[in-house]
Amino acid sequence: MRFETKAIHTGLGIENPSKAIIPPISPSTIFEIDEKGRQEGDLHYTRLGNPNRLQFEHLIAALEGGSEAAAFASGIAAATAVLQALDPGDHIIVPEDIYAGNRKMIHGIMLRWGLNADFIDMTDPAKVEEHIRPETKLIWVETPSNPLMRITDIRKVSELAAERTIPVIADNTWPTPVNQLPLELGASLVLHSTSKYFGGHSDILGGAVITKEGNELFDRIRFNQQMGGAVPSPQDCWLLSRSTRTLAYRMRGHNEHAEKAALFLEQHPSIERVWYPGLPSHPQHETARKQMKGFGGMISFLVKGSGEDARKVVVGSRLIKRATSLGGVETTWEHRAGSEGEGSVSPPTLIRISIGLEHPDDLIEDLEQAFR
Ligand SMILES: *Cc1c(COP(=O)(O)O)cnc(C)c1O
Repeated sequence: MRFETKAIHTGLGIENPSKAIIPPISPSTIFEIDEKGRQEGDLHYTRLGNPNRLQFEHLIAALEGGSEAAAFASGIAAATAVLQALDPGDHIIVPEDIYAGNRKMIHGIMLRWGLNADFIDMTDPAKVEEHIRPETKLIWVETPSNPLMRITDIRKVSELAAERTIPVIADNTWPTPVNQLPLELGASLVLHSTSKYFGGHSDILGGAVITKEGNELFDRIRFNQQMGGAVPSPQDCWLLSRSTRTLAYRMRGHNEHAEKAALFLEQHPSIERVWYPGLPSHPQHETARKQMKGFGGMISFLVKGSGEDARKVVVGSRLIKRATSLGGVETTWEHRAGSEGEGSVSPPTLIRISIGLEHPDDLIEDLEQAFR
């Protein structure tokens, strides 16, 4: 079955005894116990499992080509559950421009827990290899990275990790499985903030971890989901399944409109530099082409002048809203360093834009007038 078809049909039959075409929301926190007593796999208590969560987990696992998924209350809760599956003293390799929230979480929680981390530039797989130690237990990949849009070669990093049986996790929030399938390229785990393109309408907070195969590491992540307790509500899981049905078509629109906007920005005289993996001028464009089917809806660019000039541009738009985050149907942009705050590695003149699904000509007209 192809991606679009799987997105529409997967998960509907799970814990859906009425055979409703669209399964109902199951808000109940508790489920009746069999006369014979509680059996393995029975629904019992909603923190451990809920019909809507199982439906969504099944759906996202199928779309990433994984065997199982665990859904969380946010992307960062999913990331924390993965790192808490490691032991104090273990070492991880992380991109230096990892999603800013994950950097703060690692520094503020996981280093105190006893994890050791190297934050490095992962555009060169040889540099990743140099940082591997005997205690390295996880390599974290985020490609395209945020906000510098660096590309990591997932296949090469996975090959050198596999030689040492180190699992690789890929944060696939930006590309989504429509544009990139890390498990096919050799990664063991995929991470998502489903608050972004899966939700797609800026109204759901969620996260997920998908595993290629069942193993001890994923058992620990599942345990952290159920006993750490950062689980999503049945209502949010239901809404996420609903928006995921149209993910493939929304991503096609994001890909197409972002390419137009990137080409417009690249030739604009007020702009110093544009990073979009689909542009031939992107430093890792060839690697992006090898591993991505589309280049997504995110663009970063540098305005000529100062940080103040960049701030002026973002207040000049009429249609494009000033907001953080990404992946909604509406276009948003932000002065990234101001948004990330302390510890930001974003250049002061950098603007990050999430291209939505408005008509691209309206967007380009708004960009034109914002630069005047
Ligand atoms: C937003 C985001 C996260 C964190 O997800 P939340 O749902 O906000 O907790 C992690 N990784 C990337 C790449 C993101 O964009």
